[in-house]
Amino acid sequence: MSITVMRKVQFCAGHRLLGHEGKCANLHGHNYLIEFHVTGNEIDELGRVVDFSVINKLFKGWIDDNWDHGFIVWDKDENALNALEQVEPNKIYRLPYNPTAENMARYLLTRIGPTLIDSIKGYDLRMNKIVVWETENAFAEVTVDASRNQADARLQQVQKAMLN
Ligand SMILES: [Zn+2]
Repeated sequence: MSITVMRKVQFCAGHRLLGHEGKCANLHGHNYLIEFHVTGNEIDELGRVVDFSVINKLFKGWIDDNWDHGFIVWDKDENALNALEQVEPNKIYRLPYNPTAENMARYLLTRIGPTLIDSIKGYDLRMNKIVVWETENAFAEVTVDASRNQADARLQQVQKAMLN
């Protein structure tokens, strides 16, 4: 059995797409909506995969601290970084790639999600999907590859067996 729960987090942020052929090369902003999809195999004695307030605190907390009311900028975009650093105060988050919805989703799924999920003690959870809505009409969705997951799980079993 696997059960997935989802929590939405809304925020606003600025960005630009370095090398974009059109208007997205200009600094501009979006009202983003992010869906965090978390899957577990068990429910606790109260019937929950995890309490919604727990994942809300984690995900909304991370977004508030790092992305909300800030600029999300490719760390190679020195032109934009130099300009934004002139503004006092500033809130800049350096992403290792262009801040498209696709890249923001994959960054959350692969770099941020696992650490946040691991900090929830007592539950066996995994983040299996992130959806980043850039506008009401456009989103990017990144999902954990199930076959890859199984391969990782097998690798962990092998590593555990070797340690024992
Ligand atoms: Zn944009």
